Amino acid sequence: MEYKDEKLVEEKVFKDPVHRYIHVRDKVIWDVIGTSEFQRLRRIKQLGTTYLVFHGAEHSRFHHSLGVYEIVRRIIDDGFSGRPEWNNEERLVTMCAALLHDLGHGPFSHAFEKVFDLDHEQFTQAILLGDTEVNAVLRRVAPDFPQKVADIIGKTYPDKLVVSLISSQIDADRMDYLQRDAYFTGVSYGHFDMERILRVMRPTEEQAVIKYSGMHAVEDYIMSRYQMYWQVYFHPVSRSAEVILTKILHRAKQLHASGYIFKQEPVHFHSFFDKTFVLEDYIALDENILMTYFQVWMKEEDAILSDLCYRFINRRLFQYAEFDPATEYRKIGELEQLFKEAGIDPAYYLVTDSSSDLPYDFYGPGEENERLPIYLQMKNGDLSELSRSSDVVDAISGKRRTDHKIYFPEDVLEAGKAKNPLYGRILHMLKG
Ligand code: ZN
Repeated sequence: MEYKDEKLVEEKVFKDPVHRYIHVRDKVIWDVIGTSEFQRLRRIKQLGTTYLVFHGAEHSRFHHSLGVYEIVRRIIDDGFSGRPEWNNEERLVTMCAALLHDLGHGPFSHAFEKVFDLDHEQFTQAILLGDTEVNAVLRRVAPDFPQKVADIIGKTYPDKLVVSLISSQIDADRMDYLQRDAYFTGVSYGHFDMERILRVMRPTEEQAVIKYSGMHAVEDYIMSRYQMYWQVYFHPVSRSAEVILTKILHRAKQLHASGYIFKQEPVHFHSFFDKTFVLEDYIALDENILMTYFQVWMKEEDAILSDLCYRFINRRLFQYAEFDPATEYRKIGELEQLFKEAGIDPAYYLVTDSSSDLPYDFYGPGEENERLPIYLQMKNGDLSELSRSSDVVDAISGKRRTDHKIYFPEDVLEAGKAKNPLYGRILHMLKG
């Protein structure tokens, strides 16, 4: 029997709090899960710094990746099986892409990518196609199999239906993370009737569409995404932690460049500081390693590095205030000046941060925001874009909401304002 068709003697079942059970029958899937690059995802949290706000949010990208796999497996095996539109040959490659779509995420990806100018999607491609354990498993299926998986994840795969299951406005990725993040944060939004959505999903050549009778389940999904973004993903306090994390990495990078001798040399980061890293260096990183450096750097001579690490480890986060970059850009300049006069480095202690989300839109291919809309399949078989039938979705379609915050160490300013009137003036400017 060919490797791609091999089944496990006994089905493997993972207990999962969101999908109850995750079923693995294919030998290839089981072997992929066992590779060191996939196991690494256990050591990278799904929501980065969010656990500092919602303490339950310690779940990893490993959980989420298995969940996305399970949703795709159910769509294929339960929903699409036996349908002439579905090409059975595509089953395994689609499930592998689902399982591996986040493979290139690094530790605290947001901050890490920002500081070192990296892109996790490029690393996903590099791990799939490079000299790795995952690549060796995929290559056993067929020499071009790793490239096919990479193409689905990179959205260049010719079968658009397959791509849409992994990345579209209603895909297995989002369906898993919304429910999983809601579960682990403990919030009450984020829940929707996925079973119903899967039952009314229909394959077409271009993408999966939704039977008209399932419209309300999809509305619920769109609204839960909208709420999760503002209540959880863009939470101003977890952004504060992320700001500090980013500044720690910036400070370490800057110290390294200036020849500073660390008590604990960041050997894991040297090749990133110097831009000489290879894939192996990236795969060797995880959040445990970063946290270890933050712990020991609390004792560094450099006051900024040790303070920022202390803040991150002990959750002494920055305070925030609203600000409007369109009308208040002058205020930022003034504040920077005052910070310098007060002896507080604004490059590390006065930080602006913006979040922006577009809950749903229906722009066509080639337009500025190329996102395939969600289509309903009407009773006569015609396809109709979701917001044309749903008033709820229409109300939020194409509406981008942006939120700007400015972060600063209120604790330092409060403590020092009696001695230094400048601190009080800064506080007044920031908090009004
Ligand atoms: Zn994902």
